[in-house]
Amino acid sequence: MTGATREQGGTFGKPSAVEDRVAAWLDDHGVAYERQRRVWFRTVDFRVGEVLIEVYGCYWHACPEHHPATTKRAVKQRGRDRALASYCQTKGIPLVIIWEHAVNAGDFSALAGVVAGR
Ligand SMILES: [Zn+2]
Repeated sequence: MTGATREQGGTFGKPSAVEDRVAAWLDDHGVAYERQRRVWFRTVDFRVGEVLIEVYGCYWHACPEHHPATTKRAVKQRGRDRALASYCQTKGIPLVIIWEHAVNAGDFSALAGVVAGR
């Protein structure tokens, strides 16, 4: 099944191609990062300093543009994503979300702040 993530089990430790493109972009900009960082009950894709970066696949994370959350699974996932966002907000941890469709379009503007802060 495409769009599966490590959260389903079985694929843990195998970052997606989209994440690899984000990693390459960070490399290009000389940004030091950690991958697959355990935070709370989630594994966050990247950590740059204090900033957490999640790369969200359009299907799996039910992007409002391409996969509006209509299925039970999508609604559940969006709930988990919102929980992470509010956890980070409560803890004062900056959380940046970059969508698969933005990465595929070569639009890394969501990460501009991460680079600017270096
Ligand atoms: Zn999308």
